[in-house]
Amino acid sequence: MREAAGIPVKTTRYGQKALAFAVTHPVPHDNVSTEIHRSGGPFTLVPLPDYQGKPSSAVVWMERGPRAQELLALAPAEFEAEMTRRSCGLFGELTLASRRSIWPIISQSAARLDGERLALMAEAAHVVPPIGAQGLNMSLGDLRALLELAEARPEGLGDAMMLSAYHKARHAEIMLRLKGIDLLNRSSMLEARPLRDLRAIGLNALYSMAPVRRNLMQMGLGVK
Ligand SMILES: Cc1cc2nc3c(=O)[nH]c(=O)nc-3n(C[C@H](O)[C@H](O)[C@H](O)COP(=O)(O)OP(=O)(O)OC[C@H]3O[C@@H](n4cnc5c(N)ncnc54)[C@H](O)[C@@H]3O)c2cc1C
Repeated sequence: MREAAGIPVKTTRYGQKALAFAVTHPVPHDNVSTEIHRSGGPFTLVPLPDYQGKPSSAVVWMERGPRAQELLALAPAEFEAEMTRRSCGLFGELTLASRRSIWPIISQSAARLDGERLALMAEAAHVVPPIGAQGLNMSLGDLRALLELAEARPEGLGDAMMLSAYHKARHAEIMLRLKGIDLLNRSSMLEARPLRDLRAIGLNALYSMAPVRRNLMQMGLGVK
């Protein structure tokens, strides 16, 4: 639909891929999501309900493409040892509880969110690297904006005025989040030790400033 409407997109490729799978672990997650930043990309554990009587999490493990392919090809026991190491042992030994899937990581944004009788939302409108669980939040934001506009003027459902108001309501915020997540992703890929130290100092300074932390929380970036 986007292509048919002639709406261009801007795509950024990072050369990263994400492995996605479920694990069980001995240490409970207490319903807290944990993102571990070292190099190559973040390693994220998202809490799941217990699986076979054990604490369980969904994992998104981002790495540079060739490294991700290498990890995907490992036998389960070797893979489990690698992921336990990468998780810094925070939850004890991780055990694979699903198959592993692999995803290319991109950022993408549509130049406009509206066309003739067309509203673009969710990944048709914006794709972000899976950091800070933003994909679904941004998509729900699109849906809320569309519902509010439809309720405010039901007779105008799908007309140019409604669709252009939708674009105005969402586009700037989407671009802001895209830039924020792009920055977080680029900083999470840093390899060189001095740059990683700089990242740690920068992130600490950033997170210890109360107004900045509040803004990030409001943006739903889940920073504590
Ligand atoms: C590894 C990974 C981890 C993620 N983790 C998180 C997370 O923790 N939290 C979060 O909020 N977001 C996360 N996301 C992002 C989230 O998955 C997306 O934001 C969300 O799925 C986008 O929803 P969507 O409906 O736009 O697209 P999709 O979920 O991709 O749905 C599109 C659907 O359309 C179908 N389809 C495609 N073409 C056609 C066609 N021509 N005809 C009919 N059907 C078609 C597809 O089969 C698919 O079912 C993650 C993404 C990845 C890749």
